Amino acid sequence: MWLRKLKQRGQNGFNVIKIPSRITLLAVSKQQTPDKIRALYEQGQRAFGENYLQEALEKQTLLQDLNIEWHFIGHIQSNKTKLLAEHFSWVQSVDRLDIARKLDRYRPAHLSPLNICIQINIDHEENKSGIFAEDLLSFATALLPLKHLKLRGLMIIPEKNSLSAFKKAADLYQQLQEKGFVLDTLSMGMSDDYKEAIAAGSTMIRLGTALFGKRD
Ligand SMILES: *Cc1c(COP(=O)(O)O)cnc(C)c1O
Repeated sequence: MWLRKLKQRGQNGFNVIKIPSRITLLAVSKQQTPDKIRALYEQGQRAFGENYLQEALEKQTLLQDLNIEWHFIGHIQSNKTKLLAEHFSWVQSVDRLDIARKLDRYRPAHLSPLNICIQINIDHEENKSGIFAEDLLSFATALLPLKHLKLRGLMIIPEKNSLSAFKKAADLYQQLQEKGFVLDTLSMGMSDDYKEAIAAGSTMIRLGTALFGKRD
C-alpha cells in the first residue's frame, strides 16, 4: 500500500516520502529554487503549490517548458484575482464570495474551469483565513452559479497537529457530499502531520520541508 516513492539519494536529493498511491502529493515549493522544482519534476512530480503570487509567476516563467499543475495555497488579495485566475490550475484558499466571483469572472474562456477548494477555519481561530464550519453549506451553494469555477473540495490548515481537527474536516467533507456536491479533494496534512491527516481521510497532502528540506 505504501508505494509511492519520490527521491534520489545524494547531496541534492529529495527525501523519501512513502504515501499510499490514492493520495495526491502536492509539492509545496515556496521559497524553493526553480532548479529544485525542475529536479523534482524530473522525478515525476507534477503538482506544485505556491503561496506568494509574485514568486510563483517568476517561477512559472522560468519553468514554462514543463507541464506543471500549479496550485495557489496562500492568502488571496482581491486585486490579485485576475492573475490567479489566469496562471493557476487550482486555488485552494478560497474563503470569500467576492473573491470567488472575481476568480470566476477572470478565468479565461479558453482554459478549463479553475479548480478550487474552500478553506475552512477548522479550529475557529481568530484572525485566521477560512470560513467557519457552520457557514460551509451556504458558501458552497453560493458557488454553484459560478461556471468558470469547479469546486473540488476542502482545504484546512489546523492550529497544530491535531487528529480531531482532521476528523472534523473529514466529517464536513462527507456531509457536503451527502448534500449532493461531487467532490474528490480533502486537502490536509503538511510535513509535520501528514500521517495523521491521511489516517483521518485526507486525499491530498501538501509537503514542503519534508520533501525539499528547509526553505532557502
Ligand atoms: C508552507 C505550506 C505548506 C507546507 O508546509 P511544510 O511544513 O513545509 O510541509 C502546506 N500548506 C500550506 C498552506 C503552506 O502555506
